Parts: sequence; C-alpha cells; structure tokens
Amino acid sequence: MSNGAVLQSLVFGITVISGASATLPIVANTWPWPQATDAGWKALISSSDSNTAVLDAIQAGCTKCEEDQCDGTVGFGGSPDENGETTLDALIMDGTTLNMGAVGALRRVKNAIGVARLVLDNTEHSMLVGELATEFAVQNGFKEESLATNHSTSMWENWKSKQCQPNYHINCIPDPTTSCGPYHPANLQSNSKNKTGNIRPDNHDTIGMIAIDNNGKTAAGTSTNGLNHKIPGRVGDSPIPGAGAYTDDDVGAAVATGDGDVMMRLLPTYQLVENMRQGMSPEDAARDALNRILKRYSTFEGALIGVNIKGEVGAACTGFENFSFCVRTAKSTNTIIHSIPCVKLDKPK
Ligand code: ASP
Repeated sequence: MSNGAVLQSLVFGITVISGASATLPIVANTWPWPQATDAGWKALISSSDSNTAVLDAIQAGCTKCEEDQCDGTVGFGGSPDENGETTLDALIMDGTTLNMGAVGALRRVKNAIGVARLVLDNTEHSMLVGELATEFAVQNGFKEESLATNHSTSMWENWKSKQCQPNYHINCIPDPTTSCGPYHPANLQSNSKNKTGNIRPDNHDTIGMIAIDNNGKTAAGTSTNGLNHKIPGRVGDSPIPGAGAYTDDDVGAAVATGDGDVMMRLLPTYQLVENMRQGMSPEDAARDALNRILKRYSTFEGALIGVNIKGEVGAACTGFENFSFCVRTAKSTNTIIHSIPCVKLDKPK
C-alpha cells in the first residue's frame, strides 16, 4: 500500500519518512483510514467559507471516523473502560488564532469532534469534560445515547473473565496483576509508572488529522475512545494541545498517536512544531520529538506526523511493527496510504 515515491530511512532507531508531499492544499491523518482523509479533503475543497475550511475538514474527517469506528478505536463501541463504558476524547485547533475546543471523557454522545467544535466556536473555554460536557452537548442539540455495542460489551466481559487483565493500576492491593478491584493503595515502593507495556497494537489508536489550505491556513484535531480497559475518568493526550495535536499557521501542524499517558508529559506535537519553527524538516522534527520521549521512556510506543506550511510531510514512529498514515493532495485523485516500519523494542513482561 505504500507509495513508491516515499523515502524511508532508519536514523537513531526511529523510522522517518520524508518528501511524501510538498504541496497545498493537503489533508493528512494517522493510520490507514482513507475514508476519513477523503471526507476531510471533500470538506476542505468544497467549503464555502475560506475562514473555516480547514476546521470543517478536521471536523468532517474525524466525524467520518467516529461514525465508521475506524478500527474500533475511534468513536462508539470500542475501548470499554473498567465499567464497560466507552468514553470519548477529541480536540480541534485553529492554527490562525490558536483557539481550540476539546472534550475529555465525553459520555453518551457519539460525535465528540462535533462537541469539540462547539466548544471552539461557541464558548470562550478550551475544554469540557465528563458528565458536564455531555450536558453541554445535549443542551446544544446533540443526541444522548449509549456508546456500548455487543462488541464492546463482549470485550469487557472477556476482560472481566480474565481477572481484569491487563489494567492500569499500580502500587495497590489486591495485586492488580492477578486480581480485579476494588483496589486500595499499598506502599510497595515500585516505580512501575515508567512501564508502558500495557500499550499494545490492539488496544488503542487515535485519528489525528492535519489540514492546510491554499492560503496556508492550518488546523489540526484528534478523536479517540482512548485505551482499552482504562480506569473510568481517564483522559489521554488526544484532547490536550501540544500532546495529541498542535498547529500554528506560522509553522505547520503535528498530530500524535500512542501512549497518551506518556505523551501528555512531554508534549511531542508542540515540540515537533517548535522544531519546525527552528528550521528542522518535518521528519527531523518528528524524530527529535520522539527521541526526547525515548530518553525518558525507552519502551514508549507512538507515532507522530508533521506537515510544514509548504505542505512537506514527515513522520516517525517507535514501538509498533509498522505505522501507516494517509495523505491527500491535488497531486493524486485519491488518498495515498504510506506505511513505514518502526523500530522493535523489547517490552517488559
Ligand atoms: N493516544 C491515545 C490515548 O492515549 C491512544 C492512541 O493514540 O493509541 O488515549
């Protein structure tokens, strides 16, 4: 599925891609979800308002993924938490104003990116969370409905039947590596917060999308249902600016997928954009941002895409087998899926 024109190289143990595109307008997103790219592209080129076209593209692309559930890791019916409930995180950011709208742990509303857009357009706030974000959405006309499906319910039942393994509790009793909760703090002096072995290719993913129009207006956004079997209330990196996504018309934009509990500590998309501001190519900027994480968390899993204001694309990944991402420009009649191998890391047991 990869484009023959794509350059790949292995530098410092992180795979990077360069020269995937150098043209505007452009839409790019994480993972092989071209239906989302196409929806974003269609909104970008058909939007009647040039002031909002890139935001419309992010909203349309992420909405498509929320409706299709992409690989089950975006939207309803995926990643049930410890109570069996799916909750959603989403962010939309305007690179012209640096305004943003986000929702975290949104309950019982399917269109998380739509609610994030409402926060952007119709409030002076940046993020709403949990039950009260749902209340805000419903007051503004969004439908309230269960996000559970037969599939998410059976994933949750299966997890319960395996003594709630894996889970994200540490330093507590009963032993969370063998038992379900409820848990209570224990003074075990372990430093296992630095382990990232619970993140596996099959238990997470996020759509992160970038759009840049012909005039250099940029937007970026994300939508996800987070991590499988997360502790109820957990919010990942995806709705946090600089973690899940960041954009600035002066420079370009970046999006991330991977272990959000680590990424929100090191703000890799902010770092990537700032690296490009200092003159780095998108691929060097992505590589540097991931290297900064790997210095602290050597088993980290994640991937970054950066697009600069010229429309040049760079990506880097670590910890997965492969990382695929989509790019659409006027150079081709359809979305190109690029696939790059990532460096393999030994996971702690
Ligand atoms: N970053 C997401 C989260 O931690 C998951 C992912 O992108 O794989 O919620």
